[in-house]
Amino acid sequence: MSVSQITLPKQVTRRLCLSSFALAGFTALIVWAAVADLLRQGRLESVLSAGRAELAAPALVILVVATGICERIWPAERRPVLAHGHVQDACFLALHAIVVIPLMTLLSVGAATLIGDHARWIELRATQQWPGWLLVPLTIVAMDFANWLAHYADHRLDALWRFHALHHSQEELSVLTSFRAHPLMHTTGFVLATIPVVVLMPTRAIAPVLITIYVCIGTLQHANLRWTFGPLGRVIVSPAYHRLHHARENQAVNLGVVLAVWDVLARRAAFPARGDAVGRTGLDGRPVPVEQDASAGTPLALLAGQLIEPFGAQR
Ligand SMILES: [Zn+2]
Ligand SMILES: [Zn+2]
Repeated sequence: MSVSQITLPKQVTRRLCLSSFALAGFTALIVWAAVADLLRQGRLESVLSAGRAELAAPALVILVVATGICERIWPAERRPVLAHGHVQDACFLALHAIVVIPLMTLLSVGAATLIGDHARWIELRATQQWPGWLLVPLTIVAMDFANWLAHYADHRLDALWRFHALHHSQEELSVLTSFRAHPLMHTTGFVLATIPVVVLMPTRAIAPVLITIYVCIGTLQHANLRWTFGPLGRVIVSPAYHRLHHARENQAVNLGVVLAVWDVLARRAAFPARGDAVGRTGLDGRPVPVEQDASAGTPLALLAGQLIEPFGAQR
């Protein structure tokens, strides 16, 4: 007998998606572990501000503005500055700055705390003798693989796809689409990406500047640009490469976050060629409410609807 049958009447379970509530509960548990630990050490504020410095670094702000200017000059798809998609994704950028950045910081700390408390045996002490030039890149590559796995799971498991679908619902990609994500979409990625850090670097920290560079490359991939990065695009995810992942017809290819190698190994890489036609993005049948729909409400009302949507009945 499932938990839903024990605790809730059928009419309620039919209208709500219990797996989404389970993910929210799991996320709250990790965040609580982080907050309790940091409060005990009196480090909550300093850790949150260090997270802000990494994830909202001036370099990232400059990158977003510069990419926005490039999108006006060399757009893959020409559209007005205040296109519905741009305005809505700007709301997601605000949500990212206010809610998601502290959440990401606490997810990393909470996952590391829980792993440290319950699975300390995964720490590889031998790596502490390894030189930084080897250990740090290795850890970042392993984190990128963990992010690829989380993204793969987002597409394979319905419970996770319900949160990831919002990101794919954008029909007007721009650099701001990098921030169009349900806050709970990040839980799996941050938990999985913490594992290689705890395994390989249990007593050392990755320099914040490296995290910022990683985030910058990951942000550029949604740009409304035809850039393929030339030969480098075989290794690093380019805007043209990631756009193929947002194609309406096939989202099974190009799951890479920063490195394309995982897609190549999984036979899921589709490399764009210079001059390829720009394909349509979004989701057929609009299972998630979108701003391009004539009946969409104001951006903030729609934002609320988009955030609540994964908790509703099965699509
Ligand atoms: Zn995806
Ligand atoms: Zn994307």
